[in-house]
Amino acid sequence: MRPERFDTWLTVDRKGLYCRPGGFHIDPYGGAKRAVITHGHSDHARPGHDHVLATQETLAVMTTRLGTPARLSAQNVAYGETHTIGDVAVTLVPAGHVLGSAQVLIEWKGTRVVVSGDYKRSADPTCAPFELVPCHLFITEATFALPVFQHGEAAEEVAKLLKSRAQFPERAHVVGVYGLGKCQRVIALLREAGYEQPIYLHGALAACCALYESFGVRLGALKPATGAKREDLKGEIVLAPPSAIADRWSRRLPDPVTAFASGWMRVRARARQQGIELPLVISDHADWRELTETIAETGAEEVWVTHGREDALLHHIQTTGRRGRALALIGREDEDQ
Ligand SMILES: [Zn+2]
Ligand SMILES: [Zn+2]
Repeated sequence: MRPERFDTWLTVDRKGLYCRPGGFHIDPYGGAKRAVITHGHSDHARPGHDHVLATQETLAVMTTRLGTPARLSAQNVAYGETHTIGDVAVTLVPAGHVLGSAQVLIEWKGTRVVVSGDYKRSADPTCAPFELVPCHLFITEATFALPVFQHGEAAEEVAKLLKSRAQFPERAHVVGVYGLGKCQRVIALLREAGYEQPIYLHGALAACCALYESFGVRLGALKPATGAKREDLKGEIVLAPPSAIADRWSRRLPDPVTAFASGWMRVRARARQQGIELPLVISDHADWRELTETIAETGAEEVWVTHGREDALLHHIQTTGRRGRALALIGREDEDQ
């Protein structure tokens, strides 16, 4: 028989979201006994768990970033493959967010729950596309859960970058990108736009690019920015972590045009505040329309919302006749990675 309430078996404790009949946490904080990890971003994939289950790509990201994905055992699971943990069946399904990112489908006593992790619906040449999974309870992220957030076409943003480069051939273009996902997506989008020149990288971005390439994502010619002559960087595109843009690091670049690829760049004031000359609205998270459409398409009768800014989305959920609940999870950062 179907249990009536989801919160009798899916609970939130100090480590995060916990599936009682399965005996595991999802993206827990701190060292959990058993963890299912949706993707490699640091607010989801944390160190110190005993047993970890994730996609092969996510385990590889965790190895690169944390040294080891788990203290005792790491189990890799292919998309679509169902595993039994405790009394529940767990299946990882592509989330379209970054390489290896997964939604977690949990099935127990005829009830289907999907934990989205972070996701997006728009095309991304560097990872498997989001797959919709019908469910009774959908637990969604809400990074950009306000109607003002409409991400638009990433290809158009990359076209702006190439146009600016043509306009200012004497200047370097330094683009702030998060190291896992955004960096490789921007490179792949540049390649799709026909840009074949070497792309220069801040040293902090190299390892994740190598990891993507080891999984068959072609990124073309990449060169280290550190050590390159100032003169040689004129007219070139340099990718760097957002923190490096305002930093001394970028002073080595010839008269740089500062760009930042992020969903937050929709907020012009934010771009101005950060001294960004060329804001590029490229996001790896669902925008308002994607969030609301996905919720409707899952057919879920109840929706739980994580990742802050849930008020508008909860209101929307209730107006569509669904039960909604804000899930206060500790340690979720204000990321747009
Ligand atoms: Zn993420
Ligand atoms: Zn996240």
